[in-house]
Amino acid sequence: MIRHIKYLKSVQRPLVRILHIKSPLQNATSVERVVSSANTTKEIESSMPYIIDGQKYNYKEGNIYQGFLCERVEPIADFGLMSCTLRHLGTGTEFWHLDSHDIQNVFSIHFRTKPFDSTGLPHVLEHLVLCGSENLPVRDLFYKMIIRSVANFMNAMTGPDYTMYPFSTKNEADFRNLQKVYLDAVFRPNLFFMDFLQEGWRLEHQDLHNPKSDIVIKGVVYNEMIGSYADNSRFFKQKMLNYILPNTYGHIAPGTQLEIPKLKLEEIVNYHNKYYHPSNARIFSYGSFDLEKTLELIDKEYLSHYDRIDTSFSRIPSEDRWSQPRCASIQGRPDSSISLDHQNRVGIALLMCDITDIQESFEVKILSELLIRSPNSPFHKSMIDPNFSGGFTKWTGYLPNCKDTYFNVGLQDVANNDVEIFEELFDNTVHKVIMEGFDSKLVEAILCTQELLRKQQSECKRLLYRSTVLWNHDGDVVANLKISELFEKLQTKLKDNPNYFEQKLEKYFINNKHKLTLIMRPNAVHEIERRQAEAKLIRKKLKETNDAEFKKIYKNGLKLEALQQAPDNINVLPCLSINDVQKPIPRPQIKEITLRGVPTLISHEPIAGITYLKCMFNTTGLSLNDAMLLPLFCNVFSEMGSSNHDYRQFDNIIRSKMARLECTAKIVENVTDSKTYRLGLLMKAFALDKNVWDMFQLCEEILLNFQLEDIDRLKMLVTNYITKLTLDVAKLGHLHVMTASSALVTNAAQLKSLLSGVDHIDYMKKYVKENSIEAIRDSLKSIGSKVFSRSNLRVAINTSENNVFKILGDYERFLTHLPILEHNIEAKEIFLLEPSFRYHNLDMPLSFCAKTFFAVPYAHEDHPALRVLAKFLTSKYLWPVVREKNGAYGAGARIGFDGLFNVHSYRDPNASNTMKVFDKTYEWLQAHRYKLDEQAVFEAKLAVLQLVDWPISPGEVSLDSFVLGASYDIYLQYRSRVLAVTVDQVQNVIEKYFRDEPKHFGKCILGPKSDEIEV
Ligand SMILES: [Zn+2]
Repeated sequence: MIRHIKYLKSVQRPLVRILHIKSPLQNATSVERVVSSANTTKEIESSMPYIIDGQKYNYKEGNIYQGFLCERVEPIADFGLMSCTLRHLGTGTEFWHLDSHDIQNVFSIHFRTKPFDSTGLPHVLEHLVLCGSENLPVRDLFYKMIIRSVANFMNAMTGPDYTMYPFSTKNEADFRNLQKVYLDAVFRPNLFFMDFLQEGWRLEHQDLHNPKSDIVIKGVVYNEMIGSYADNSRFFKQKMLNYILPNTYGHIAPGTQLEIPKLKLEEIVNYHNKYYHPSNARIFSYGSFDLEKTLELIDKEYLSHYDRIDTSFSRIPSEDRWSQPRCASIQGRPDSSISLDHQNRVGIALLMCDITDIQESFEVKILSELLIRSPNSPFHKSMIDPNFSGGFTKWTGYLPNCKDTYFNVGLQDVANNDVEIFEELFDNTVHKVIMEGFDSKLVEAILCTQELLRKQQSECKRLLYRSTVLWNHDGDVVANLKISELFEKLQTKLKDNPNYFEQKLEKYFINNKHKLTLIMRPNAVHEIERRQAEAKLIRKKLKETNDAEFKKIYKNGLKLEALQQAPDNINVLPCLSINDVQKPIPRPQIKEITLRGVPTLISHEPIAGITYLKCMFNTTGLSLNDAMLLPLFCNVFSEMGSSNHDYRQFDNIIRSKMARLECTAKIVENVTDSKTYRLGLLMKAFALDKNVWDMFQLCEEILLNFQLEDIDRLKMLVTNYITKLTLDVAKLGHLHVMTASSALVTNAAQLKSLLSGVDHIDYMKKYVKENSIEAIRDSLKSIGSKVFSRSNLRVAINTSENNVFKILGDYERFLTHLPILEHNIEAKEIFLLEPSFRYHNLDMPLSFCAKTFFAVPYAHEDHPALRVLAKFLTSKYLWPVVREKNGAYGAGARIGFDGLFNVHSYRDPNASNTMKVFDKTYEWLQAHRYKLDEQAVFEAKLAVLQLVDWPISPGEVSLDSFVLGASYDIYLQYRSRVLAVTVDQVQNVIEKYFRDEPKHFGKCILGPKSDEIEV
C-alpha cells in the first residue's frame, strides 16, 4: 500500500511546473564527444541515445570502496547510464548504483518481506518505521521531513513481498539529510507501543473522555484498508493474485479489516529484527551525486555494526503448477447507479513465466499487448466490440509483480446472463488466433508502440520501479534495462519463425492448466455485513478482555491523545538552510514564433530522440451544452478512424508511427487577474524524431477527416467512457470534493465540475440514458465542426535543438491545411457565487470533505504568503487534528493558480466534525499565534518550493507557460516572493482573508448517507 505521503503528493501536485530537467542524455555536443571517444563505427541515428560505453569510469570491478566490493560495472546504452553493482563485505548487502548526469537523484532501500497471514504485519511495520528512530525520535518522520526538505518524492510502500522506502531530490544537501533519516528509520526504528496503537489498530471509547461510551476500533492502517478495498477494482486484483498463486501469495500483505486486529507489537518487533537485517536489504541510488559519500555513510553508521546472516528464509519459491484449472467466486460492493444484475466482474488469469527469465518475460509482455491493447487485438475484437460490458477490468494484461508472473483479462459491469459465456469467449478467441495467426500489421504496430514507450520512460523513478520486483527475486536488473538487446533477440526469433507468437500462445494459453476464473458478484448488503462483522469483532475482543485490560483501553486512549498533542522535538531532524534553496530552475530554451498566424512555442531541450506536439484549440465559444460534451468528444473522436481509414486500419497506422493521441478539455483562469477564463481542447502527441513527418500527417488526417458514423463502435466507446468515469472516484475523492466545493464559489469552477467532477459523472450518466446514440453522434459531430481551426489554435513543440529546423517545414504544411473558422470568443468573464453547502451521496464507507473560498490569483502579491500559510495550516493544524485525532487518512490546505483556497480531508470517518474544524481555522490561528515563528514559516516555504520547482519530463517543459500563461519570468518573480515571505506577511494575510467569513465560499461533503449531516 502506498502510504499517505504519496497521497499528499497527489494532492499538492496537480499543477505542472516549468522545469528544465537535464535528461540522462545531456546536450547534443556532449553526446557527440562521448560517442566519438568511444570510437564507435556504428552510425548514430538521431534517435540513438547517449552512450557511455568506453568512457573512463571511476569505479572498477574488484576494487573495494568504503567496505563495498565492486562486483560489476556495465553501461546501459538505452538509458545513457553506467550501472555499478556493489556488495557490502561484512553483511552481503547489495548496492546498485545507476550513474547518470541527471540533476534528479534517487535513493531507495528495500527489504524482502514475505507475509505469513493477512494481519498486514509488513504494512503496519512500514508505518511504524516512520514513527521515529533511535537518533531521530520524532513521530511521522516523513511528514516532518517534508517541511524541512525540497524532495520532490518521499514514500514508503508495501508490495506483495517487499517493502520499499524511496525518495528523490535535486538538492545534494537535501539528499544527504534524507539518507540519514531513511537509514536510521529502517535500521533503528523505536517501534513504540503507543505508535503501534495509533498506526495499527486499537480499541477506543467513541468519546475518548467518557469511559462509559461505546467501544470502537481505530487505527491508521485499519482505516486505510477499509478505504482501500472499498474499491472493487483493487479488491478484484488482490483476490486474483491470492487465488492464482495460493501457496506463495495467498495472503494479503497490506492486511484486511478483520485480520489486522489480530496483530501484536511483539510479532512486529521480531519480524523487524529478522527481515530488516542489512543482509536482507537492497539499496539503490541513481544520479550524479558522489556515490562514495553514500557508501561511507551506510558502512560507517549502519552496516559495519552487523554480521552477515543467511537470508534464504525470505526467499519466495516458485508456485506449484496446477494439474487442472480452478474457479473462485467473491463478493464486491454494490454501485447504486447501475442495476444490480449488471454489476458482475469476471476474469481469467493464467500463470506465465518466472520473473527472472528476462527475455521470456519481455516476450510474454509483448504477447499480452498483442492480445488486448489495440482495437485490432483478438480479445478486444471478441470481448469489447460486442459491447456487452463496461470494458476491460483495470490491470487487464501482463502482471510481472511477483516471483511467478501472470496474464489476466477481465470484464466489468457484466450482466448475470453473460458471466457464463466469458470463459467460452476466452477459449474461442485463443483458438481462433492459433488457427488464423496474428495480423502482421498488428504485430508491427504493437512492437513500434512498445519501443517508443520504453524509450520515453527513462524517468529515474520508473527505472527503479521496473527493477524492484525483479531485484527482489535476485533477477538480473542490468540485463532487464538493455531494451534494445531484448528487442533485437525477439526480432531475430520472429524472422526465423513466423509462428513464434502463435506457438507462445499455445504454450501459455492452451497447454497451461494453471488457469483461474474469478467471478465477483455485487453484494447488496455489503456495507451492512461489513459493519456487522466489525461489531462482532469488537464484541469478541471485549469478551476476551478482563477488567484491568478494559480500564487500560480508557487510559491508553487518553495517553495517546496527550502524546498526539505533545510537541515533537523536531529540531533533531536535519533541515535545509535558506542558502541551500537559492537557485531557481534554469531558464528553458524557448523560441516563440508565429507561423501561419498560429502562436507557437518551441522548446528545444535535450530530449532522447522524441518530439512532442501539443495543440490547444480555444473552445470558449462553445454553448454550455456543447461544452459539457467536450470531454466525451475528446475521448472518442480520435478512436473512430477517418474517412480514409476505418478505426482498425487507422489504429495500426498510428501505433506504427507515434503514440496515441491524448485529448482533454481544459478550463484555464487568467493567472494575473482571475477575471476571465478560457475553455480549450488540448491535444498531445509524440513520436520518434524520424517519424515526425508522419505524426503531422496523421494529426491532420484525424483533425480534418475524423468520422463518427460507425454507430456500434461509438456506442461501445461511450459505454466504456461512462464506466471509466466512476472507477477512480473513491481513490481521487479529495480532488473530486475540492472540485465540487470550488464549484460553489465561481462560475469557472462550476464549469470545471461539470466537465470533470462528480457533476460531470451525474450529467453524463443521465445524458446517455436519455439520448439515442444517433443523437449523441450528431451532437459530437457538431462540436467537431466548431473546434478544429487555425484561427483558435496555439501550439507547443518540444524537440532537440538540432531537430528544430528539420521539422518546421512539416509543421507549416500541417498548419496550412487546417481551416479557418470565424466568430471565436477569446475568453469569458468570471463571476462569484453566493455561499452554499452541498452534500453528495457516495457509495463509500468513508467521506471526503472540503471548504473553499476565493482569495487571489497566482500572480497577485499575496498569493505566495497564502500558499505558505496553506502549508503551515496543513502541518500544524489540519494534519494533527483531522488525521491524527479524528482518524482521517489525510487532510490539507492549498491555494491554486485560480486563486481558490481549499481545505480538505481524505477518507474521513468523521465528516461533520471535520467541517467544524474547517470553520474554526481563524480561531485556531488566533490561539496558536506562537506557532507561527521564523522556523515554521521557513519550513512552509520549503514545502512550497518543492512544488514551485517540481521536476517535469522533457516533453512537458514549459507546459505552464503554454497552458496557463505562467511564463518563466512570472515563475521567477513568484519564486523570489516565496523566498521573501515573512512572519508578518503571513499574519497579514490571515487577518485579511480569514478574520471574517469570506463573502464567497462553498462547503461540500462526498460520502455515505448520514443523519448527522445537515445540508
Ligand atoms: Zn499504509
